[in-house]
Amino acid sequence: MVLSVKLVDVVGRQFPGDIHSLHFSNELKKDLRKALLEWFENNGRHDIPWKLKENGSRPNKGEQLSVYKIWVAEVMLQQTQLQVVLPFWNKWMKAFPSIISFANADEQEVLLHWQGLGYYSRARRFHAAAKIITKTNRSSVFTEPVVWPQDLESWLALPGIGRTTANSILSSAFDAPFPLLDGNVKRVLSRLIASPQPTKDCLKDLWVLSENLLDRDNSRNFNQGLMDLGAKVCRPSNPKCSICPWHFSCLAYSFDNPAIFPVKPEKKELPFEVVGIGVVLNQDGYVLIDQRLNNGLLGGMWEFPGGKQEKSEAIQETIVRELQEELGIEVAVEQFLISLNHSYTHKKIRFEVYLCKWIHGEPKPLASQKVLWVKPSALCKYPFPAANAKMIKALLEFLQ
Ligand code: SF4
Repeated sequence: MVLSVKLVDVVGRQFPGDIHSLHFSNELKKDLRKALLEWFENNGRHDIPWKLKENGSRPNKGEQLSVYKIWVAEVMLQQTQLQVVLPFWNKWMKAFPSIISFANADEQEVLLHWQGLGYYSRARRFHAAAKIITKTNRSSVFTEPVVWPQDLESWLALPGIGRTTANSILSSAFDAPFPLLDGNVKRVLSRLIASPQPTKDCLKDLWVLSENLLDRDNSRNFNQGLMDLGAKVCRPSNPKCSICPWHFSCLAYSFDNPAIFPVKPEKKELPFEVVGIGVVLNQDGYVLIDQRLNNGLLGGMWEFPGGKQEKSEAIQETIVRELQEELGIEVAVEQFLISLNHSYTHKKIRFEVYLCKWIHGEPKPLASQKVLWVKPSALCKYPFPAANAKMIKALLEFLQ
């Protein structure tokens, strides 16, 4: 076991860790802050566009950055990694360069620009929050809100904003002393104390730890350093402990394999279902799509109609039944188009997609908010979830 002398500052500790008995002396906290800030200066990710000023330089201490740019990024980062977010963020800033342009945009346009990022309720709640903030804080119809909220309560009162997002906006935009606890930070802190619990079971304690360690005189850099440390050094697997600025007092480092922290929660098997999808074409070559209800998973997105296969039902029978129930139409199931596996957080689905011929009945939105016949070439104008985007690609290739 490798133990640094600095660990004598962490008192009353059992192995593996007991988070409640953990105490960091003031001297140790000072050392940790200093080491992290020095590492950040030399090794941090200093090219994240929303963390820079308009001229591309780093902000000075206490200097305000664009709240809107940071807010966009923080919402995108809620369930998505930085490298995935970057191109979406760049495209987003071109489409909606200001909070006003975003708040005034049509919801379908918003969803279209969110397409590919998943968790679409984020976009809809963000849009609702932008409308609220531009309504309450704007002095002129042409300018950014003149007064952005700088207190936690005002941010938490907005739709789609939890403590992590609110603190991150306040820290990044205003250099305000709010602790962070995103995925990277949870991992670093869990390892620092070799927490014996999965992170979801000790969130309250990790928040306290993040707050205790925070350098309140340099909070923006400290928080960014902590996130960058998680992204570049204290990675999920193969953490680079030998170059870590915190290895002198990291308890996980004292174990042979620090990557066993954070302790993984017990894995639950996700339910699996097969869904039959009908890509219905009429005699004019138009294809039928429907828009999901706003409340619920993928709310407001468009899709091809279909539904869950029942026991001892052939998939073609599923499609005929579902289209009758969902849209009140009769179809003939024809050619197989594509089979796709897709995982959601709560279930796994295999989509079996067939081309269908419309036979009878005017389509009605019996289980959706709208139905439309559209030209296949116009499908790109509607926001579809990721799995449907692959079906569109297969359809267009088939039609060619
Ligand atoms: S020493 Fe290793 S496990 Fe500990 S914080 Fe650094 S990289 Fe992570």
